[in-house]
Amino acid sequence: MKEQPLKKLARRIKKSLKLLLHSGTNYECPLCGYRSRDLAPIGNDYEVLRRYEVVGAAPRRGGCYRCGAYDRDKLVFLYLRDELGIFSAAKKDYHILHIAPSHAIASRLQAHGFASYVAGDLFAEGYDYPGYVKEMNVLNLPFDDNAFDLVLCNHVLEHIEDDRRAMREIYRVMKAGARAILQVPLSKVLEKSIEDPALKTEEERARAFGQRDHVRIYGRDYYERLRQCGFRVEEQNLSAAYPRQGLNPEERLTVAVKTP
Ligand SMILES: [Zn+2]
Repeated sequence: MKEQPLKKLARRIKKSLKLLLHSGTNYECPLCGYRSRDLAPIGNDYEVLRRYEVVGAAPRRGGCYRCGAYDRDKLVFLYLRDELGIFSAAKKDYHILHIAPSHAIASRLQAHGFASYVAGDLFAEGYDYPGYVKEMNVLNLPFDDNAFDLVLCNHVLEHIEDDRRAMREIYRVMKAGARAILQVPLSKVLEKSIEDPALKTEEERARAFGQRDHVRIYGRDYYERLRQCGFRVEEQNLSAAYPRQGLNPEERLTVAVKTP
C-alpha cells in the first residue's frame, strides 16, 4: 500500500523533469499553454503509413509533452476557438456531441458550460474511459434527428467497416447547417481508399492499414463518401496561420456541413 504514493510521486518528478528538459520558446500548446523547444514524437511506425504518406498517422514530432495533445487535437481546437468562435456568447446555446473524445479538448469544452455537451465512445477492452464518457455506438446513436449544432468525431471512421452508415448516422443527429469535424488519417497519394474485409486479425490490419484496429487507409475518395451521405465538405489548412503551435503542415481539417 505504501508503494502507491511513492510511485505517484516518482511519476510526478519524472514528468516535471521532462517538462523542464523540453521547455523553451519555439512552440506553445494552444490547449494547455506549455511552451517548449521541441514537440513530442507521435504516430505509428508502420511501413505502409510511410509508403502511402498517411497524414495524421505516420510518425512525426507534433505532440505536447504536458497535456498529451496531438497536432490534430491542436488543429481542431484552434479551428473551434478561432474560426468557429465556439467560445463566443452567441454559441453558448450549442448542443455538442463528442465521439471518442480527446481529453485535452473535452475538458475545455466541458468547462465552458454549453447548453449540452455529450461525450461517447464504443468501449474497448483494455482501455479506461473517464466518467463523463458514455458508452455509445456511432452506428446507432441514441439521439433524435436534428439534435446537435456541432459533432466532433475524429479518428473514428477508419475503425468502422460500414463507415457510410456511421456518416449517415452523424448526419441524422445534426441540425441543418450544423458542422461535424471528421478527421481521419488520410493518404496524400491514394485516390481510392484501401480496404479489405478479408483482413481480420490485428497483425493483418496493422500491416495493411498501419494500426491493429484500423480497417482502411483513406484516399481522396473520403470526401466523396461524405458528399454521398449528404454533407457539403470544407477542407481547411490552418498551419501557416499558427507557426508556433506545432500543427502538421500537411494536415487539412475536414469539416462536413449538413446542408439545409
Ligand atoms: Zn498541451
